[in-house]
Amino acid sequence: NNNSNINHPQLKPNLVNDNHKSDFFSRRQKIEQQRRSLPIASVEKRLVQEVRKNDILIIVGETGSGKTTQLPQYLYNGGFCRDGGTIGITQPRRVAAVTVAKRVAEECGVELGQKVGYSIRFEDMTSNSTRIKYMTDGLLLREALLDPYLSRYSVIVVDEAHERTVQTDVLLGLLKGVQKKRSQSYSESNNDHVKANNGTLMKVENNGQAPHLGRRLNPLKLIIMSASLDARGFSEYFGGAKAVHVQGRQFPVDILYTAQPETDCLDAALVTIFQIHLEEGPGDILVFLSGQEEIESIEGLVRENLKKLPEACQKLLILPLFSSLPSEKQLKVFTPAPVEFRKVILATNIAETSVTIPGIKYVIDPGLVKVRSYSPDSGIESLIVVKTSKAQALQRSGRAGREGPGKCFRLYPESRFEGLDDSTVPEIKRCNLSNVILQLSALGVDDIIGFDFMEKPDRMAVIRSLELLYLLGALTDEKKLSDPIGHQMARLPLEPNDSKALILASQFDCLEEMLIVVAMLSVESIFYAPREKLEESRTVIKSFSSPEGDHLTLLNVYRASLEFLEKNKTENGKEKAEKNLRKWCKDNFINSRSLKHARDIYNQIRENVERMGLKIASCGDDTIQLRRCLAASYFLNAALKQPDGTYRVLANGQIAEIHPTSVLRRTKSECIIFYNLVQTTRNYVRNVTRIDYLWLAELAPQCYALKE
Ligand code: ADP
Ligand code: MG
Repeated sequence: NNNSNINHPQLKPNLVNDNHKSDFFSRRQKIEQQRRSLPIASVEKRLVQEVRKNDILIIVGETGSGKTTQLPQYLYNGGFCRDGGTIGITQPRRVAAVTVAKRVAEECGVELGQKVGYSIRFEDMTSNSTRIKYMTDGLLLREALLDPYLSRYSVIVVDEAHERTVQTDVLLGLLKGVQKKRSQSYSESNNDHVKANNGTLMKVENNGQAPHLGRRLNPLKLIIMSASLDARGFSEYFGGAKAVHVQGRQFPVDILYTAQPETDCLDAALVTIFQIHLEEGPGDILVFLSGQEEIESIEGLVRENLKKLPEACQKLLILPLFSSLPSEKQLKVFTPAPVEFRKVILATNIAETSVTIPGIKYVIDPGLVKVRSYSPDSGIESLIVVKTSKAQALQRSGRAGREGPGKCFRLYPESRFEGLDDSTVPEIKRCNLSNVILQLSALGVDDIIGFDFMEKPDRMAVIRSLELLYLLGALTDEKKLSDPIGHQMARLPLEPNDSKALILASQFDCLEEMLIVVAMLSVESIFYAPREKLEESRTVIKSFSSPEGDHLTLLNVYRASLEFLEKNKTENGKEKAEKNLRKWCKDNFINSRSLKHARDIYNQIRENVERMGLKIASCGDDTIQLRRCLAASYFLNAALKQPDGTYRVLANGQIAEIHPTSVLRRTKSECIIFYNLVQTTRNYVRNVTRIDYLWLAELAPQCYALKE
């Protein structure tokens, strides 16, 4: 029932509205009016002036005040693209880049991909005429590889800087350097100009210009935007840069706590949703959940419980929002609910600051967030669910008071709030740094410890990550990128382990298969098992399962779906086939949106490896070949069975269990490799494949040796 919102009869009029001319004009008028009423609109002139005066500017404003959607348009109208330059706006999250670009294109009345576009990993919606370009921070880092001066940009806006993702932190350091280089080249080329005018020096053409561009580079304007109030840190980092505050509109928000700690957060959230729906006045509900799985499981529970209510109370529109959701689905959260309906948006952390959803009056905050966590001791990164910081809790409750007074239900006792950390630890302090090091090495930065980070990463973490890259063969003894492996790994838009798996797979003659496996592993939960149908789903899923493990199972699913699609296409045409595929997915408890996403990723990385000239061959039914290749790539994630049936991770001695969703959960193989380590109340390894432990010594001798 993922699609039941689309088929909702009441929603249809909204979708066809634009066909009517008068509606079209009234929509434009409405958008214009909305734009003018945003808090940032009153300071448009001042902002443009400040950007003109300052090469670095920090803009702080509450979420929803209009920074992300409006500022780039102000700058465009203010002439910052006049010399052909582009305004680039980076976002930590893909969702934000996509939804905001769509919104801004609409506000500008242009087709997406023309003047306004976006570019994210695996998806480029820009053209030569794009002047306002939204992208992820990671993508801009990749662009810097090809163009160290970032010469196409006249302005770069680093948005949501307060989130302090690793990519943002790396980008800030990098941009500082780029700006310096651009200023130098600008003043040099200016000097040459003077000389030329005096007639003493004629040859000025190539001075200070990016060699491939006909125009001279102007200094780069840098804008750092942030929602929280910590402008000082950014200002200090940028040598006392000027900060401008945009006053937001904030109505009072009533904060309600539970009397007792909740044991089951999902259940507490469910109860609260219905309590609001049945007892409170009109207004949409925003629920913060830790991931796609929680969202989908609550989605099912809400739908089920809704059916039990009297018809008049069933007018609740359930909309999930998480980053791997296809963008057309993401955009649905912005569409107003049909008359008399209440929207309940089940969102991950992305709704905290990245996207602003109009109409929210109630926020439900279980107080948890899923974050990356890295222990330098073990060298293994895991995803853990932790308590939010105070700043995050405030940010979340603030979402309820944008358009009028609101209410926030914190699903924990007030005493717990007092004990929360003030702010969130920057990601760079709690993640595996090997990807960052790889990227920086590719940019010519060899000394990671000496890099100008706003906050230095943990020394041990750097050393561990260097070690990992060394073990993967990406770095030489001199800590330089190895040739070709290191360079190839840096070119692939994947985590180092996954890149290595693809590169090795071309040697193991199983790249065809590994492309699928890596694509399937890049999306969250392919299988969708509603609690109430757990047994049924297990039986169905079994038809795909491979005794060798989850990687091969994922491969089977992908192939079965393609086969179904191809067969259907010849019979029914493309569109019908896609629709039938969604039905097929539903019948097989497969998450159709995840699968679709995996297909997109597959196509992209296939293109990547083709361009790199890697040999794409298939190992056919020789699953040993594929498993050996997995062992050779993910050797650090190897674990051995213990007498009590749990597993001991070889690299660090950590004890974990096989996740209940794994096809290997019962078989208990001697030796396994896993893709993720998830820590909830217990340690779980997910996406597990059976291997022979002898392979480890053979294929990863840099790490393992056989004891006598
Ligand atoms: P900020 O970056 O300051 O948090 P934004 O520029 O993202 O603010 O959003 C400003 C306003 O624009 C929001 O309050 C919201 O009402 C509206 N908005 C943003 N994106 C969309 C969208 N895709 N559809 C409809 N309205 C949107
Ligand atoms: Mg914003």
